[in-house]
Amino acid sequence: MSIPTNVSWSFRYILRVRPSVLHLFTGPIHNLSVRSIRDNLRIIFPKVSWQYLVWFPGRIPKHNIIVWMAILDRLPTRVWLLRMGLSIVDVKCLMCGIEPECRDHMFFGCNFAKDLWGAILALCGVYRGACSWESELSWATYCFKGKSLIARVFRLAWAGHVYSIWKERNCRLYGGSARSVDALLQDIKAVIRIRLERSTICRSDECNAALCARLDIA
Ligand SMILES: [Zn+2]
Repeated sequence: MSIPTNVSWSFRYILRVRPSVLHLFTGPIHNLSVRSIRDNLRIIFPKVSWQYLVWFPGRIPKHNIIVWMAILDRLPTRVWLLRMGLSIVDVKCLMCGIEPECRDHMFFGCNFAKDLWGAILALCGVYRGACSWESELSWATYCFKGKSLIARVFRLAWAGHVYSIWKERNCRLYGGSARSVDALLQDIKAVIRIRLERSTICRSDECNAALCARLDIA
């Protein structure tokens, strides 16, 4: 049966998906439910290992959409635009002015990003330098799971780092004034504090108490 064009989109959709669920109506009627129809229509994609970094309770949507695009390498960096066939004269990073501006360099390879991520790690009680994009993503994917305070802080901090670097890059690109690593760090710290201030935190735990003190969470 051809689908008429002079009917509403919802009716056209019902006609289009009808063959996919027709088999449900041939069995016993007590097995039929809205859920079973929905499950038959739903496309289930395999889970990705980094899902907890992007979709977690308490996330900040504007941060996490940038994280999601960064993980998929869909942010329009200068190298990415060049790859897409655009004529980009200068591909250098807007932070250091030395290396080509690609995702891997911008977020964890550039000295500016390394300083910011190192300061964020220190704030969380981790004293090490920044590694490559792949290493940091693997580390975050493996370590930031769960409901502990440190996991919640790290998820927000990771997203805050990626968002702040991208925002700073855009600010410099469009003529805004350059901000320091410390200014970005204070912004990230404030965002984490505001996000966690009203949540339940077990303060009797020494690690949690120390983390709250470093982040100024009342
Ligand atoms: Zn750079």
